[in-house]
Amino acid sequence: MLALRKLTPGAGEPALADVPVPLPGPGQARIAVTAAGICGTDLHILHDEYSFRPPVTMGHEVAGIVDALGDGVDPAWLAALVAPETAFRTCGICRWCRTGRPMLCRERLSIGSGVDGGFAAYLVVPAVLLHRLPAGLDDQAAALTEPLACVCNALLDPPVVQPGDRVVVIGAGAVGMLAAQVARAAGGLVELVGTAADAERLAVARTIGLATGSIDLPADRDRLAAEGGARSIDVVVECAGVEAATRMGLGLVRPGGHYVQVGLLPGEVRLPFGLVVVGELQVRATFGSSPASWLRAVAILEAGAVQLKPLVSGALPLRDWRQAFTRLEERTGIKTVLDPRLD
Ligand SMILES: [Zn+2]
Ligand SMILES: [Zn+2]
Repeated sequence: MLALRKLTPGAGEPALADVPVPLPGPGQARIAVTAAGICGTDLHILHDEYSFRPPVTMGHEVAGIVDALGDGVDPAWLAALVAPETAFRTCGICRWCRTGRPMLCRERLSIGSGVDGGFAAYLVVPAVLLHRLPAGLDDQAAALTEPLACVCNALLDPPVVQPGDRVVVIGAGAVGMLAAQVARAAGGLVELVGTAADAERLAVARTIGLATGSIDLPADRDRLAAEGGARSIDVVVECAGVEAATRMGLGLVRPGGHYVQVGLLPGEVRLPFGLVVVGELQVRATFGSSPASWLRAVAILEAGAVQLKPLVSGALPLRDWRQAFTRLEERTGIKTVLDPRLD
């Protein structure tokens, strides 16, 4: 089968390789991939800014149909539309594993970086990582379940949005769109803001009923302060991973309000951290998902409270991976997925 693999350590492009179709071992399930989303983390792997163990098939936002099972796995999984949690291997006994936060396990190997992921026709995962998705969910959009679980981890566990809260979500990419929808489902009065370059993305957000705004970083920080927009928002969720946005976001939160960092940041950023002290802000950050947040994500999809399909702005075959990565780099569309059935 065809697989998009990072073959060598360090920075560098992945390559399409022909590899054997994997067989599920005891306790494992094989997924015939219907779609795998391309994510900022994948770009970080190309630039050697996120750890990985080559040679490895990339892709951690995966959906597909279970088509083969190893010994000991409930046959009811066969033919189910599923998405897998990403923490393929963890130690199982550390403090984080034992308290439901396997993403923080030091020995974690995740699909798409530590073990083979979903930029391929098939992947194999421990069956305990599978989540059954609602019947009728689009099988390409289903690849957005993983980022949805990450957003649920950030906003719902514990909950940071109360009904009636004014919520500003910064960042009009897929994660921002999901965060805005989850905050709305929690009862928040949500505005999704992006820059002028996000005009098309914000238009999509409006089609799913989200209020949108445009900001010009960092000039708008001063404008918002002048208009009294500063320090009036109950919850700010930063999903852009941009230093100027984090600065603006902290300045928007009302005293006692919440600031949630979801976008990945480099190790060092310059922030008005004194605002956290004088405003007694509650600052929270999350890295990835948890098993509990996956349950919430699936429940939200079953309830129809979040739409995934409008966020899929293109599905390409694996052989067009370069075009798909360029779309992310140039911020074209919202979420591009690779669908190996198109190869
Ligand atoms: Zn991702
Ligand atoms: Zn562990």
